[in-house]
Amino acid sequence: TAFDTLGLSAQTLKTLAGLGYTEPTPIQSQAIPLVLAGHDIVGLAQTGTGKTAAFGLPLVEDLLAEAQKPEPKKVRALILAPTRELVNQIATNLKSFSKRSPLFVGTVVGGASINMQAKMLFRGVDVLVATPGRLIDLLDRKALSLDATRRLVLDEADQMLDIGFIHDLRKIAKLVPAKRQTLLFSATMPKQIADLADAFLTNPKTVSV
Ligand code: AMP
Repeated sequence: TAFDTLGLSAQTLKTLAGLGYTEPTPIQSQAIPLVLAGHDIVGLAQTGTGKTAAFGLPLVEDLLAEAQKPEPKKVRALILAPTRELVNQIATNLKSFSKRSPLFVGTVVGGASINMQAKMLFRGVDVLVATPGRLIDLLDRKALSLDATRRLVLDEADQMLDIGFIHDLRKIAKLVPAKRQTLLFSATMPKQIADLADAFLTNPKTVSV
């Protein structure tokens, strides 16, 4: 397969050419058409398989289509990941997919100034990439609302479980409106992650690489 058979826009294909991505990875070939069609997804994939682009390309494409509407900047997509490093890596990828666009990609992670993060959220972000613990702290401070969030991604869900974020994940998922698209990626599928998927995804399609 090639990228131009997956249903991506001409603009996204141009972005990919600019990034030097010539062929989709298996997780990208499988997941991108399903994400574009609006399905919830359980993706069984390790790091290094290209899963960030598998959810990030369709996500950015959809948000850019919506970005034409003159709405105040609210968190429309929330991506949760276990570590600061992964959060930053995801944000860097998403920024490269949305270069020269009005989309603002923000990050919140532990170990950085919470006041600066609250200020950034007050100014407004379209896409928020976060570690669960710090996001909960900011939600408790009412520094942001998830009322406009229609896309939720849980990346490396098994790692988040191992770090002890499972309660935070459940709390956050309850604050995101039920009418949303939810994508869950995990390298393994322990029972607690399967239960989480049952509780927070709707008729998910499973992709596995
Ligand atoms: P990930 O598994 O999302 O962390 O991606 C692993 C690495 O592969 C990242 O450095 C990506 O920039 C790169 N990558 C992802 N998809 C492709 C692709 N289709 N072609 C070339 N490189 C890619």
